[in-house]
Amino acid sequence: MNIKCKISQWSVQEQNRQWHNIKSCHQTKQFMQVVNIRLRQYAVRLSRKDLRLLVGLLTGHNTLNRHLTLLRRTDDPLCPLCGEEEDTSLHLSGNCCAIAEKLCEFFGRYFLGPGGLRQEHWSTLLRFVKNL
Ligand SMILES: [Zn+2]
Repeated sequence: MNIKCKISQWSVQEQNRQWHNIKSCHQTKQFMQVVNIRLRQYAVRLSRKDLRLLVGLLTGHNTLNRHLTLLRRTDDPLCPLCGEEEDTSLHLSGNCCAIAEKLCEFFGRYFLGPGGLRQEHWSTLLRFVKNL
């Protein structure tokens, strides 16, 4: 292994260590538990518009009601489609009964937990969000 590979490997290990120790970023950690170089390379090649959508989905910093409630732009954090849970990225992309058919169309299952979402490539998540 050459020095460039060793530095890259150390960098990924260090990023994973820091990511593991961060106590915030709850929603993002549901989507990614470790650094994935393949997904990172996919993301940096996206257009600005698509990258914004993907980052909004992964971080929860988007126009869904939970985030808008945190920003005090609305007072109802519930999903406008089903009204059963908070309107979050995780709910929308894996657990909303109002769009279960669309979830099945994209992911092959009616409901995905965080574990199921983590197995999906970000390109699938992005296509799903763009087709809502
Ligand atoms: Zn819902």
